[in-house]
Amino acid sequence: MELPKLAIAALGGTVSMQAMNAGEGVTPIISGEVLLDSVPELATLARVNVETLGLLPSASLDFEFLLSVLSWASFQIRQGAVGVVITQGTDTLEETATFFDFLWDHDQPLVLTGAMRSAASAGADGPANLLDACRVALAAQSRQRGVQVVMNGQIHSASVVRKTDSLALQAFSSPIVGPAGMLVENAIHYLHPPTQRKVLPLPQHTTQRIALLEASLSADSLMLENIIELAYDGLVIAGFGAGHVPENWAGVIETIAGTIPVIIATRTGSGPTAQSTYGFMGGEMDLIRKGASMAGFLCPRKARILLWLLVGCQQQHRLASYLSKD
Ligand code: ASP
Repeated sequence: MELPKLAIAALGGTVSMQAMNAGEGVTPIISGEVLLDSVPELATLARVNVETLGLLPSASLDFEFLLSVLSWASFQIRQGAVGVVITQGTDTLEETATFFDFLWDHDQPLVLTGAMRSAASAGADGPANLLDACRVALAAQSRQRGVQVVMNGQIHSASVVRKTDSLALQAFSSPIVGPAGMLVENAIHYLHPPTQRKVLPLPQHTTQRIALLEASLSADSLMLENIIELAYDGLVIAGFGAGHVPENWAGVIETIAGTIPVIIATRTGSGPTAQSTYGFMGGEMDLIRKGASMAGFLCPRKARILLWLLVGCQQQHRLASYLSKD
């Protein structure tokens, strides 16, 4: 029987990192082709097309580059791949996963993975994560689940996954809902059914700029006051608690929301924003009255990606429908 086609792209990150010389820090130098050598078993599961599309730390990825990766991945599906795996750095994995998930219009899985330990370190997790990600991408049960992140034996949905530890092997979690699934003895077990996804059109513009500011105790409003003058096209605020800001921010937000879309998310790392609980100035009811939108379950970083994409395809008027759970 002919093995299924699988496409793998390497973008860089710790999974591709190694020190050039003893005593030096690790940098991304290992190509996708060499990464494949660490998972010989894959040859028994799939016919693999591997490409190295970049060798970058994930902090240096940008939206334009991600659009070119997306177009490569879509092409692979059109050429008959049953799924696509992308290896990259974990620092921004939760953002790239969200970016792709808002745009991935295929039933076939797009799976992102990386590593917490660099390639030559003892107990490097890259090969296991890569093999797991390939198993997930090849599985029929993974269809219609959009973009998923596979790390440390767990499968996370792009819409909720977050990097919640800086260095631990168990660095990713999906607050409130938990992982979408897990790998046990190489078999895939999904714990939740697939959810309805809303896919956006491709952005026609890529020069829009969305600011992200975090509320903090006793913060001044200087940066906030300059958002319009700095020509930002949208603003996301990582607010306190259920989506709150200091009183001295509330009036400024009203002015800004009269010109560009403003989303208030929570900086807590878990849980949704409120809609109708708090009535103080700077609370969510006040901010909604002043023209801001509440992010709901979207974390500030994912909300910023949504707004960047919506502005890029001139669909910002549909923000509310993308922020609601239904
Ligand atoms: N620490 C990161 C990683 O896990 C570095 C990066 O994101 O490129 O890959």
